[in-house]
Amino acid sequence: MQPEGLWKSVLGEIELSVSRGSYLTWFKNTELLRCDRDSAVVGVQNIFIKQQLEKKFNDLIYQILQKKGIKTKELEFKIITPKTQRLIYDDPVVLEESVQEHLKNETINSTRNSFTHSYRQGLNEKYTMDSFVVGSGNELAFAACQSITQNPGIKYNPLFLYGGVGIGKTHLIQAVGNYLTQNNPGIKVLYISTEQFVQEFVESLRTRKTTEFADYYRSCDVLIVDDVQFIAGKEKIQEEFFHTFNALHQANKQIIISSDKPPGEIPTIEERLKSRFTWGMSIDMQEPDFETRCAIIKSKSINHGVDLNQDLVEFIANNSTTNIRELEGALNQLFAFCEMRAVEPTLSIAMSLLKTAKSRPKHLSAKQIIDKVSKYYQISLEDLLGPKRDREIVVPRQIAMYLLRSELHLSFPKISAELKRKDHTTAIHSVDKIEKEIRINPDIKNGVSVLKDRIYA
Ligand code: ADP
Ligand code: MG
Repeated sequence: MQPEGLWKSVLGEIELSVSRGSYLTWFKNTELLRCDRDSAVVGVQNIFIKQQLEKKFNDLIYQILQKKGIKTKELEFKIITPKTQRLIYDDPVVLEESVQEHLKNETINSTRNSFTHSYRQGLNEKYTMDSFVVGSGNELAFAACQSITQNPGIKYNPLFLYGGVGIGKTHLIQAVGNYLTQNNPGIKVLYISTEQFVQEFVESLRTRKTTEFADYYRSCDVLIVDDVQFIAGKEKIQEEFFHTFNALHQANKQIIISSDKPPGEIPTIEERLKSRFTWGMSIDMQEPDFETRCAIIKSKSINHGVDLNQDLVEFIANNSTTNIRELEGALNQLFAFCEMRAVEPTLSIAMSLLKTAKSRPKHLSAKQIIDKVSKYYQISLEDLLGPKRDREIVVPRQIAMYLLRSELHLSFPKISAELKRKDHTTAIHSVDKIEKEIRINPDIKNGVSVLKDRIYA
């Protein structure tokens, strides 16, 4: 087996151990450059990723490699340029025999395109149009995407898809990219997460390679930008993106954008960019209804080689909340449990496994959430809902708003009203701020996670 196969399987495990955001930002375009008894060398795109992997994920990667039977002594990270990559692929890395032997036993999905290919495009081939289950909530988005696969750049340009987490945005837009790549030889499709776009841009500034950066993105036929909300507040990158957008749009190149909120609600984003986002078609992707959830469960289990009976399917569909990622998680938990014990999935196993999800209160109210925040941070309700702007009060207030959004999906005006704020943009900023902080500030992350536990305790 080639090292890319090994590395894909390592990445597969990493994907399960870290948040999706972290995975996309730090791991997505990494590759294994060399691997022998002395060291494993992981190729990364830039210095930021290198530092982050060294500092935070060294142990995790090392452990997973060990688990896969790669008894290497050291782990190294190395920045690669497009040139070195090609060289490396022309000259395939040879793994030690013992390692090779061990790896033979591992079954890893083979992929149709070469790894180099998918590296350049940022596409993950597991996301296909065929495996996307169409139902209420996503039909419109699917129809628009289908139309784009037939006539890119013509009708819906840009296509702007928005909706909550785990609703299938990434799956769908990646599927369009994969479809176009597979059916149009020579087409240049680029998929990029906004976090990555920002990082690459910063890196290009540092290395004075902004022209290359710009040329790279402006030379594609289809540009797919995921999670564009992360562009908020970053003026320079907004400007860069604006020019890229214009260049591609003028040339009738297809642009597809995803976001967790509609263009008008992304805070601190330039008006001209906002207006560009609405030039084509904006579609709201909504939570799947019961039937669609059942269809997704069935489809995922068949892919897994398991035929679940209807009772079981309905039980899981009833238990998993509104988010498809969670639903998939519940299903995978069930499969893993049953596979380890070599038993068939049954209703009672599912019931015992998914108990925690089931015990979530159905009538969680805004007041309950605000109370929990007030108690946890030991701030009186009067202060939390009052005019004071001290940091000790502002942060918990923002967290309360964040939780009202993430747990109850309240609208921004409603959130502002619950917290007795006059202006609903305060809620937008707060939710956005906490979303960002969670990723960089351990205190906030911890606070939010403890609060979530208490809310559902
Ligand atoms: P988002 O980008 O909106 O946060 P993702 O596209 O990452 O969500 O979806 C989360 C998970 O749910 C993925 O594994 C995806 O394959 C799966 N998923 C979402 N929607 C569907 C669907 N309609 N059919 C099949 N799988 C889906
Ligand atoms: Mg996504």
